[in-house]
Amino acid sequence: MQKREELYAGKAKSVYLTDDPDRLILEFRDDTSAFDGEKVEQLARKGMVNNYFNVFIMDRLAEAGIPVHVEQRLSDTQAVVKKLAMIPVECVVRNIAAGSLCRRLGVQEGMDLNPPTFELFLKNDALHDPMINESHVETFGWAKPAQLARMKQLTFQVNDVLKQLFADAGMLLVDYKLEFGVFKGEIVLGDEFSPDGCRLWDAQTREKLDKDRFRQGLGGVVEAYEEVAKRLGIDLPQ
Ligand code: ADP
Ligand code: UDP
Repeated sequence: MQKREELYAGKAKSVYLTDDPDRLILEFRDDTSAFDGEKVEQLARKGMVNNYFNVFIMDRLAEAGIPVHVEQRLSDTQAVVKKLAMIPVECVVRNIAAGSLCRRLGVQEGMDLNPPTFELFLKNDALHDPMINESHVETFGWAKPAQLARMKQLTFQVNDVLKQLFADAGMLLVDYKLEFGVFKGEIVLGDEFSPDGCRLWDAQTREKLDKDRFRQGLGGVVEAYEEVAKRLGIDLPQ
């Protein structure tokens, strides 16, 4: 497969066309951003760790029957993925209260959420990713009702698989964000699943092992990501 020109450079990843019109190369960079790109830093090894992490998680999800875009890891920081027509809506599931939910609703961080919540956000940096609802998605044509229903179903299926996977490795899956796209008429999970886009706490101590370490200036960001990878049995290069 031949790498062609850059299609898009996001805040943490770059997307390249290939000689295959149905495939892209996703490159994970060391750039780490928070607060709509207000705080940006380069964290050595982060791109590599997230690439290995994402391929590992997407493989587990595929084994569970979830359609995913990742086809294979290409190098330490790159993976070959299906070229999706991305739906500009972020799907967030929360098992435990944290982050914007606490700020918005005044609930205590750490509260168990039963049943887990499902929220939608518009992927739009200029508007600061506002929260939206299902009627907005339909009215503004971001996705058809049947597509949104499938996204919601898959987002909860991901929760069933990953809550257990992380629990088995001594961690709590607090919340996470997923992005979907369309490939040959089918809704497929795109983008990434890594500690950049989810919250993971140690099950015993509730120590934060995710991007909140960066957001809150706690330090040891990549060290925490590597600890999670180690617990999952992901074999990272030295
Ligand atoms: P952002 O756009 O939020 O700054 P990234 O730096 O992660 O995000 O950039 C990656 C971009 O690639 C995102 O906009 C994401 O929606 C898009 N993307 C992820 N997976 C695919 C895919 N399989 N096909 C097309 N676009 C994708
Ligand atoms: N998230 C993300 N990208 C976004 C917004 C949120 O990956 O643009 C993830 C975030 O890492 C967390 C979950 O979605 O795991 C819920 O985020 P929240 O709404 O609490 O926002 P935050 O507090 O991060 O601003």
